[in-house]
Amino acid sequence: LFIVLEGGEGAGKTTQLKLLGEWFTQTGHEVISTREPGGTEIGERIRALVLEHDQGEVDPRTEALLFAASRAAHVTQKISPALASGTVVLCDRYVDSSLAYQGAGRGLGVEGVAEINDWATEGLKPDLTVLLDVDPALSAQRRAARDAGAAGDRIESADLEFHTTLRQAFLDRAAAAPERYLVLDATETPEQIHRRITERLAPLLDS
Ligand code: C5P
Ligand code: MG
Repeated sequence: LFIVLEGGEGAGKTTQLKLLGEWFTQTGHEVISTREPGGTEIGERIRALVLEHDQGEVDPRTEALLFAASRAAHVTQKISPALASGTVVLCDRYVDSSLAYQGAGRGLGVEGVAEINDWATEGLKPDLTVLLDVDPALSAQRRAARDAGAAGDRIESADLEFHTTLRQAFLDRAAAAPERYLVLDATETPEQIHRRITERLAPLLDS
């Protein structure tokens, strides 16, 4: 079972991944939790290399190829072997993040980015993608309120537009294959969201 958490910045993916990992362990399953970009030594080095630059600084094609390379290592070295041994794999971001960030957000086009990722992953798709959906305007407001007075709390309108584009790209992916997605309101409490995810997973575990 291959489960991916997707969504924009600050949607709570990492929190849900942790709760879900604990839940699988408690219900007697072998489980690993991993993340993208990253997940392997090479992948983490690619992540560090790209993320040490500000958003928009690395040429988008270079970024898309580097993240796809990170993903190829991740699938080959970690995800596929784990799945083959019956281990549940939980992953913080996967292909849809590249389609949203590099394809839609950075304007490369979703189709081209999908193609290189299809090649990089040899077509490996998650059994379920949980999309933690939140209106970027709302999460920016919350972040600004939380960090009031702190440096860098200005909400740039260009940034808001970028994140609104990402949100729509994620939602489009989910709408195109609803049977493989669970779209959740990320403004609910972590406990509520966790319960919705485990309710959706129960039938997948029985089969
Ligand atoms: O989800 P996480 O915080 O680990 O992501 C780190 C950063 O990588 C995010 O700020 C996101 O903007 C960026 N990213 C990206 N393109 C991807 C995946 C992540 O720009 N395909
Ligand atoms: Mg996170």
